[in-house]
Amino acid sequence: MAFDIDMIKAVYESMPGKIEKARQLVNRPLTLTEKILYSHLHDNQPLENFERAKSYVDFAPDRVAMQDATAQMALLQFMQAGKKQAAVPSTVHCDHLIQAEIGADKDLEKAKSNNKEVYDFLSSVSNKYGIGFWKPGAGIIHQVVLENYAFPGGMMIGTDSHTVNAGGLGMVAVGVGGADAVDVMAGMPWELKFPKLIGVKLTGKLSGWTSAKDVILKVAGILTVKGGTGAIVEYFGEGAESLSCTGKGTICNMGAEIGATTSTFGYDNSMSEYLRSTERAEVAEMADKIKEHLTGDAEVYADPEKYFDQVIEINLSELEPHINGPFTPDRATPLSQFAKEVKENNWPETLEVGLIGSCTNSSYEDITRAASVAEEAQAKGLKAKAEFTITPGSELVRYTVERDGYLKTFENMGGVVLANACGPCIGQWARHTDDPKRKNSIITSFNRNFAKRNDGNPNTHSFVASPEIVTAFAIAGDLTFNPMTDTLKNEAGEEVKLPEPKGIELPIKGFAVEDAGYQAPAEDGSDVEVIVNPDSERLQLLSPFDEWDGENITGMKLLIKAKGKCTTDHISMAGPWLRYRGHLDNISNNMLTGAVNFFNEETDSIKDQISGEYDSVPNVARHYKAEGIPSIVVGDHNYGEGSSREHAAMEPRHLGVRVVLVKSFARIHETNLKKQGMLGLTFENENDYDKILEDDVIDIIDLDSFAPGKPITLKLTHADGSTDTIVTNHTYNEGQIEWFKAGSALNLIKKQNA
Ligand code: SF4
Repeated sequence: MAFDIDMIKAVYESMPGKIEKARQLVNRPLTLTEKILYSHLHDNQPLENFERAKSYVDFAPDRVAMQDATAQMALLQFMQAGKKQAAVPSTVHCDHLIQAEIGADKDLEKAKSNNKEVYDFLSSVSNKYGIGFWKPGAGIIHQVVLENYAFPGGMMIGTDSHTVNAGGLGMVAVGVGGADAVDVMAGMPWELKFPKLIGVKLTGKLSGWTSAKDVILKVAGILTVKGGTGAIVEYFGEGAESLSCTGKGTICNMGAEIGATTSTFGYDNSMSEYLRSTERAEVAEMADKIKEHLTGDAEVYADPEKYFDQVIEINLSELEPHINGPFTPDRATPLSQFAKEVKENNWPETLEVGLIGSCTNSSYEDITRAASVAEEAQAKGLKAKAEFTITPGSELVRYTVERDGYLKTFENMGGVVLANACGPCIGQWARHTDDPKRKNSIITSFNRNFAKRNDGNPNTHSFVASPEIVTAFAIAGDLTFNPMTDTLKNEAGEEVKLPEPKGIELPIKGFAVEDAGYQAPAEDGSDVEVIVNPDSERLQLLSPFDEWDGENITGMKLLIKAKGKCTTDHISMAGPWLRYRGHLDNISNNMLTGAVNFFNEETDSIKDQISGEYDSVPNVARHYKAEGIPSIVVGDHNYGEGSSREHAAMEPRHLGVRVVLVKSFARIHETNLKKQGMLGLTFENENDYDKILEDDVIDIIDLDSFAPGKPITLKLTHADGSTDTIVTNHTYNEGQIEWFKAGSALNLIKKQNA
């Protein structure tokens, strides 16, 4: 059995009591989101009436999930914690590294050979530390989590932004960086700013061509890509209960596209049935017993304006299918207006490829609805005019829909079944095209459609819709087609209309699979060897960072004074560097290469104070490191904004940077620096930024009295021998100072474990 029934039992046993305490404390009815949050406080976190969008709260998630790209550095770090097993049930999913080119079998074989060293590492490290491992071909992380691990009222984190998909089964599931996953697996708390709450009341019932996907396409149009920032979206109302569990998953999945922390739904019959159909009747029975705690209080839903920060109402009976895009998922157009928009905006009318599936939309219901359209079209003498691909979300779904004949239906229409993996959704798509410069249109049932996301081609106009709309468009080969009103000419020259899609929520014969692709970890992994080839250019075992020697850090050379915006992308670029995300030394060759040098306004060109020459940032840092000279990075406002990528903190630490001194930090990056044993400081007087000169050597003069709230003084020695003294602040608490002293948070955990 893959899921951890004892853990779920423990959560359900303690939930009612914790919720009641929280309700008494805040003295009002609670939303579902609050119930889940308040019942997952970390043991160290006192219960308080937390202030939304203000209070930072320590939580104890029930699970961790990692995809293969982000799992590499997370697990390399976890190995440093000195733990025998991950502290909470955790899984790794091999889905991101499989390139779609020819079809499922051949593509999978190629990926297994190209990524062998990564898969061998992930499989062996999972085996050793009690982590479930889903092999390449087993499926996409979020679909596999929904089918096996998600449970109503649970809290999980995952190292992928669409972890939020598990809200379809009533979880609070949040996408995080690898550092957070490491913390939770190492038994540390997970910190989150207490979110704002957005309520979405769904009334009515879906019908015809409209599906659950259209709910979130509509919501994205209302809230835009930023509207959900810092908020959890909670769906409720009779319309919510009428949706299938997997439809709810689709809605929550694309909550990432509005920037929401996550989205969730209250426990209902559709969830119970989904749990039972995926062999988790025990979980459903336990959930049934505490079901009033697995949804918001009735008073909340009766008067939502009083309890949510924002309320949106959507009537499903009136909702039209939507098509969102191109280039952004919040450009929402109702189907009836779409042809006009296509013409007015001069978007390429010919549809070149329709792609269905992915973690967003490959449920049994999705596939059967799309297949019903495809089948009727063929019966009426129609073939797909556009290319058509199907990406199943998991082997469980793929096997079942193949058994039930639906894949054959797609293949008969000219469709190509791709591996159960991310493939075209994340640019892992060797698309066949005769002219990459041509403006062209594709439509997918995926979630994101930013420029270049699918095929790396900036000329591709990518639209997002439900699988059934994608299928209809692929048959028409034309973006101006409206399946609700228009006809198509068949092979006999007759005008025919596509039927409304018909779906089956759950397979009548049940789900089936021969080999789901799961590898259970060893009971006792102490003898398991983690496989890393010492010559690998993609993977490198980490060595612990040095402890603080208790002395002031002196003689630091200024590495770079960054001007203006310096995001985690400027500090550790993505793109081709993703290949090296499991190899700290190799990926460090991108360190700060995107940052603008204040002194010459160029990127990746800084003065080497030893040679006097200008060189790349990593080269200069390596030179200082080789000479045993510490260095310091200076930055502007909101330094480190962007992603939670831990590489942005690990690389400077690896290349000998000891201090990052800025006008202000993005909070997550500041915490990541602290975790890696770096000193993150801010100017007390912002104008002191101007005092930092290109040839400065900098000493800390009072680090020996490092204490919470106590400023730290720096002495600047300029090239002409003159000096300046500046005062800096920091936000280290007692515990974080211990991280600094130990050399990193993981060093400290290791010490404590020992
Ligand atoms: Fe991310 Fe796409 Fe893979 Fe889903 S299918 S996990 S959205 S890359």
